[in-house]
Amino acid sequence: MTNSEPKVGISIDIEADGKQFGHLSVPHSRNESGWGALHLPIVCIRNGDGPTVVFTGGNHGDEYEGPIALLKLVRTLEARQISGRVITIPALNFPAVMDGTRVSPIDGVNMNRAFPGRRDGSVSQMIAHFVQHRLLPACDALFDIHSGGKTMMFSPFACYHRLPDEALTRRARDAVAAMAAPISLELVELDADGMLDTAVENMGKLFVGTELGGGGTTTPATIAIAETAIRNLLAHLGVIDEKPLSREARGLSPGREMHMPEPGCFLIADDAGLYEALVDLDTDVREGDPVGQIHFPERPGREPAVYRAGTSGTTIGRTHKVLVGPGDFLALIAHDR
Ligand SMILES: [Zn+2]
Repeated sequence: MTNSEPKVGISIDIEADGKQFGHLSVPHSRNESGWGALHLPIVCIRNGDGPTVVFTGGNHGDEYEGPIALLKLVRTLEARQISGRVITIPALNFPAVMDGTRVSPIDGVNMNRAFPGRRDGSVSQMIAHFVQHRLLPACDALFDIHSGGKTMMFSPFACYHRLPDEALTRRARDAVAAMAAPISLELVELDADGMLDTAVENMGKLFVGTELGGGGTTTPATIAIAETAIRNLLAHLGVIDEKPLSREARGLSPGREMHMPEPGCFLIADDAGLYEALVDLDTDVREGDPVGQIHFPERPGREPAVYRAGTSGTTIGRTHKVLVGPGDFLALIAHDR
């Protein structure tokens, strides 16, 4: 057994045609189950030759559009409707999804900082290792569906990264445009190491993502954006024989193409206290405008610390939690491209 051979097993043959519901089997010996394993659902739908698209939801366990939209997809999509292969993991960090938490309750690991994973690591690290060594080599494109979770709220966007490989960047931008979200964002990460995104892109494969709503819940609108993005990506890549449905064709306003050209796009807390947002999402601000302020409940006489926009643009993300501390994310400001 080579070192890249995962300890995680899989109950289905992802080379076979047809629709298969199966699971990954992650070794998980514990007090309640001495010889036990964690079963993590995976669905493979294949019909002959064509691209392989991997969909992942629940990379963070408190982000729900991905799991819900992907559960709907795997129940309704049939092999005869596609050319190629669709591999879906609706709840990548399955223990976190079942616990309603961002990171795994088993090992405290953030799945999206665990790549490329560890063969002999913790449960989350073993899952990442399986994805890295079994799924990514087999895939042509991966769509990882995120939302703001319990602590953040976003104006829904689909996103890609600017990469050294310009052709790959262009493919990702075109795919995101086809997904027809309200905002198509060229996203800059605060910390890209260990992310599934980076693992896919380092293999030269197409990666697209989303941040849809947040606050630990969903809305009909954010679920619809996820479902349309999934469907349109499959159409764009030729896996299903239909044209991506544009926003205009659905009677919606045109999407915005945005980017984050400077560090001032992120607003980060320096103080501990109660955060009051002074502007809502989708508000145009100018550099220096107050965006929010932190109050000090232990010192009622102290003026709040005002946080100002570090750049001019539109607010497309903010903290959902009110009790914040130094280093916490407060707001995201993006520019039209
Ligand atoms: Zn996330």
